Amino acid sequence: ADFDMLANMDEARAALARVFGFPAFRGVQEQVVARVLAGQSTLAVMPTGAGKSLTYQLPATMLDGTCIVVSPLIALMHDQLRGATANGIAAATLTSVDADRGQTIERFLRGELDLLYVAPERASQPHFRDLLSQGRVGLFAIDEAHCVSEWGHDFRPDYRLLRPLMDAFPDVPRLALTATADRHTRADILAQLGIPDDGLIVAGFDRPNIRYAIRGRDNPLRQLKQVLAENPGPGIVYAPTRAQVERLADQLAGEGRTVLPYHAGLAPEVRAGNQAAFVASEDMVMVATVAFGMGIDKPDVRFVAHAALPKSIEGYYQETGRAGRDGDPSVAIMLWGPDDFVRARARLGEVEEHRRASERARLDALAGLVETAECRRAVLLRHFGENPPTQCGNCDNCLNAPGVTDATELARKLLSAVYRTGQAFGFGHVEKVLTGVADERVMQRGHDQLTVFGIVPAEEAPLLKQVSRALQARGALVANEHGGLMLGGDARALLKGEARLDLVIAERAERSGGRRRKG
Ligand code: ADP
Ligand code: ZN
Repeated sequence: ADFDMLANMDEARAALARVFGFPAFRGVQEQVVARVLAGQSTLAVMPTGAGKSLTYQLPATMLDGTCIVVSPLIALMHDQLRGATANGIAAATLTSVDADRGQTIERFLRGELDLLYVAPERASQPHFRDLLSQGRVGLFAIDEAHCVSEWGHDFRPDYRLLRPLMDAFPDVPRLALTATADRHTRADILAQLGIPDDGLIVAGFDRPNIRYAIRGRDNPLRQLKQVLAENPGPGIVYAPTRAQVERLADQLAGEGRTVLPYHAGLAPEVRAGNQAAFVASEDMVMVATVAFGMGIDKPDVRFVAHAALPKSIEGYYQETGRAGRDGDPSVAIMLWGPDDFVRARARLGEVEEHRRASERARLDALAGLVETAECRRAVLLRHFGENPPTQCGNCDNCLNAPGVTDATELARKLLSAVYRTGQAFGFGHVEKVLTGVADERVMQRGHDQLTVFGIVPAEEAPLLKQVSRALQARGALVANEHGGLMLGGDARALLKGEARLDLVIAERAERSGGRRRKG
């Protein structure tokens, strides 16, 4: 068997050069391919851009039988199909939009296909199982395998039906692939897809050339203009809604760079045109929703900016991971505000109840990342189950160690003021009460008579806004739709002295740390 393995891997290296034109495997690709060729089922967790597709496409060209690739998005399938076909691999997709389905089935039955891409809905149907049993299957590749897990951020029930399909072909190895899986999700994928625990291969998630910076959103337009000014080269600005994409694209244009919008609401030809322009350009900025970036291959993106909180740490990692695939220094900068958390926590109410706990944990992890005074990279990598050094030397907190101050007392004062003013006023009013500003509204309501009136000394007053932001990120303060603040679930622990609030001192040089424009 050892001899076979060596011969297999020699053959694999030859195919790597011949079919793909690559001189060597990257990272864990070799390990994954070796297992697949040895018929061992595997879960490969590899970050975006690490080269997952090659780990099944290469074996597919060597194995007897077709590699069945399950992939959740038709657009991604067609991208993959184009890539594979360009490399001379016999591949086809079997989806509702393919007119040549009959022909594809014939090719599969004749054993002519290396790769057959299907969506999970089709793969899980009985007649697909019948089809497979009439031909020859060499490998099951399950792309975006986190979709099988309720712990993952993108659960799709149809993925659960893949197990019975694969169990009907017990001799065919399984290769599950994902870019984003924390420890829980990984264990769940292994169990759900029937892959042994020792079949887990995790590529390092660290992207050392990306410099992470996260800061409060005070004046987004000014802050983003500064990011553009400090970071020449192609860049992406992610915004949460189509309207914000449009507005930001307008506002950021005219600074000497081409700035174009990208979102699902644009006409397909406009979207394709903007994307093509971006891929070809050397200094363009794309303002986009997260719809942008999947499946585009542009190695020299120099910065990725988030104008608002991303959906999850997984999303953040994936989106920032589009920077610097060429290995050159790149910047990832996120601007966040308390309203981002308000919206995210409101959305929690809409998810199905059995998923709420894991969604809440996901949001808490994100709050931990934005609030931390520790190394951002360390927090990020620990989230993905790694054991990173405590300092990376290439994130905002490492480069410019923030001061940390114990703001527990100040947080308590803010919470009591919110409580005593009746949990109906916005931050501005509560701030006036705390700092002893007796304006008309304060007097009218009698809030100058409260015990909390003027209890925050002038030197601490500038921290109040940040305390409010941190408390909202934690869910200790909740804003209603009019901006009125109320106590949230976590307020109690702070008020009772069971929790504390450490604050990163906000004053740091407002530099995103990118390369300066020359000259
Ligand atoms: P993923 O699916 O993990 O995000 P892809 O499969 O799209 O990554 O691969 C990312 C890029 O890396 C592609 O342009 C691919 O051609 C390239 N690539 C993959 N493997 C290698 C390799 N061994 N050597 C050089 N480039 C590679
Ligand atoms: Zn660091």
